[in-house]
Amino acid sequence: MKAISTVLLLLSSITLSFAQLSEYQPFWGQSDDYLVLRKWKDGTSEKYWAVHPKTLQTMILENVTVKPMTRDDARSWVSRTPYGRAMYTEQTRDGALQDAGLTRTQPNEKGFSLTMDLCPSHKPLTRDVFEDLIAAFEPEEKPVPITITITGLWMQSHAEDLQWLKNLEKRGDLRITWVNHSFHHQYDPKLPLTRNFLLSKGTDMASEILLNEQAMIQNELTPSIFFRFPGLISDKSIFDEVLNVGLLPLGSDAWLAKGQKVQPGSIVLIHPNGNEPVGITDFIKLLKTNASSIKKKDWLLYDLPASLSKN
Ligand SMILES: [Zn+2]
Repeated sequence: MKAISTVLLLLSSITLSFAQLSEYQPFWGQSDDYLVLRKWKDGTSEKYWAVHPKTLQTMILENVTVKPMTRDDARSWVSRTPYGRAMYTEQTRDGALQDAGLTRTQPNEKGFSLTMDLCPSHKPLTRDVFEDLIAAFEPEEKPVPITITITGLWMQSHAEDLQWLKNLEKRGDLRITWVNHSFHHQYDPKLPLTRNFLLSKGTDMASEILLNEQAMIQNELTPSIFFRFPGLISDKSIFDEVLNVGLLPLGSDAWLAKGQKVQPGSIVLIHPNGNEPVGITDFIKLLKTNASSIKKKDWLLYDLPASLSKN
């Protein structure tokens, strides 16, 4: 009996800290230049989440006129835009177990895009790495553009750290592209990769995507058009589920803790969630080694949506 009431108590505390949005669902439509991909109800008004197919910037819209479309019509409307082209590239990169999706932006760039994963963790945010990053790139780049991929469980247990990041954004030190990294980010170190992360038995892929989007919106983060698979692990079936709700899976060609090297146009991956200190140390070393190139603007951080919108 005690066990049951503990479980009920836990469940109710989760529900209290995360109430879902009303009728939140995938949807296809057009509002001016925007492609609408989600809709939900807020009181008596409809709200929408939409992407600009040329800039890859996303926005939450309300009090707008939306023309509903079929998914096929939406696809053909955007086919000649950077979003349509990115979607096409994704379809050719959907089969690998590890690191499927976009892994690099523009090889002619003088720098790279930085992605930081906030997988569930009991440890506090590694704030030093953000402070070092801002110190290294300002004033050459202000705000410093970075991409943070985030999970529902991390948000639930790190309210103060999340507020700290949002304050850096408000102060103009960082420009953050927020990426969905699934709600629960299941992981079991004992299971093989083919049955781990989002390939774990019983995973409801649609709810992992949509629950986390709602948690992001309720935490006042605008989800970007990207999705990152936990562990960078996927198969064709879950990869296609991500594409089918309009999102662009984001891999990495430079996971620093795995010894991969940064190239021009790399999508670099580090974990500031306290669970991968090796990658953080490598990254801080890299900042120091390249300090003079940063000052000469020969080594820059790129904004991911802006980089991909040049394709
Ligand atoms: Zn992760």
